[in-house]
Amino acid sequence: MKIHEYQAKSILAKYGVPVPQGEVVDTADAAAQVAGRLGGAVSVVKAQIHAGGRGKGGGVKVVKSVDDARAAAEKILGMNLVTHQTGPRGQRVGRVLVEQGLSIARELYLGIVLDRSTEKPVLMVSPDGGVEIEKVAEETPERIFREYINPGVGLAGYQARKLAFALGLEGAQIGQAVKFMTAVWGAFLATDASLIEINPLIVTADGSLLALDAKMTFDDNALYRHPEIKEMRDLAEEDPLEIEASKYSLNYIKLDGTIGCMVNGAGLAMATMDIIKLAGGEPANFLDVGGGANAEQIKNAFRILMSDTSVKAVLINIFGGILRCDVLAQGVIAAVRDLGVRVPIVIRMEGTNVEQGKQMLRESGLNFTTADTMSEAADKVVGLGK
Ligand code: ADP
Ligand code: MG
Repeated sequence: MKIHEYQAKSILAKYGVPVPQGEVVDTADAAAQVAGRLGGAVSVVKAQIHAGGRGKGGGVKVVKSVDDARAAAEKILGMNLVTHQTGPRGQRVGRVLVEQGLSIARELYLGIVLDRSTEKPVLMVSPDGGVEIEKVAEETPERIFREYINPGVGLAGYQARKLAFALGLEGAQIGQAVKFMTAVWGAFLATDASLIEINPLIVTADGSLLALDAKMTFDDNALYRHPEIKEMRDLAEEDPLEIEASKYSLNYIKLDGTIGCMVNGAGLAMATMDIIKLAGGEPANFLDVGGGANAEQIKNAFRILMSDTSVKAVLINIFGGILRCDVLAQGVIAAVRDLGVRVPIVIRMEGTNVEQGKQMLRESGLNFTTADTMSEAADKVVGLGK
């Protein structure tokens, strides 16, 4: 689960990470009031959406008066902000964070993510902050410094000091940076985060370190331990079909193609997407109905696939284990009868009760196309979708 910058900053502050003063608002007048309260010569109005690159897209404005703060908020609120992370459709801005403007001497980068290959969280820093870290990784990878954190031991002082030196910090800033990194690690661990990214981490003109931007993502499987974080979920930032799917514990992700996929098991779902592409098609979604799906879930999954207007044909690829093929057939038949279907459906299934399932499909009187192998199924569905 993702949260907004202002929410991430409030969590980080709780764990002792220094952040700028600011407040989140949803009207231009309130933005002006906050700018007035902050009282500094400069404030910053920042669009709150779940995507980075807001500065370049016009979603971050530095202002020098209360009136300019109001005008900037007026412009940003309600705008459809397009950044390299939102995709071409963009994201509507519902709130802005009004923050004290700081005078920046250096923009650094700091991030913690879970590194699956070493099975450890990795703390990464770069002296080249403020810009896209993906670009730094590609063009000047030697400018990114990493320390792998042993989860049993935590972030050791020497590791934080090593990174502070790598950032080119000196004197009292070394101690500040160690405290900063330790606090970020504390927040990562305590909240079951899967990512914390501070870009930029700034050194101000008077030499202090602050998190100027903040992004946090959490492990969905651990959210039950953090009800106060779970409450921060902003449904306006999520795809409506994905929200609908999550109500039925379906793993659904909307994609740009035209072939709807219904599969059980994430690995099989990925293999199915691959083979659709190999056959010359583009998947419209990733959908894992799970190993133990019942007829009701199959029906809901089908309804979600059908409400995506870009779907031109559907491939159902099921390995019947816990979800038996006859249960699948029953669910699909019920769904097609109830919902009516406007596109061709190709079904490939294998496993428990496969013959019984196939017989049910044949005897349903509905117009399904069946296939025995995955490549046959992919060829058929891509052909029918054209
Ligand atoms: P994004 O990464 O989405 O573009 P950031 O929060 O990183 O958004 O802001 C972009 C840039 O705007 C920063 O790199 C910084 O130069 C400037 N900026 C952001 N907040 C402030 C602030 N409070 N004071 C001064 N400059 C800021
Ligand atoms: Mg940023």
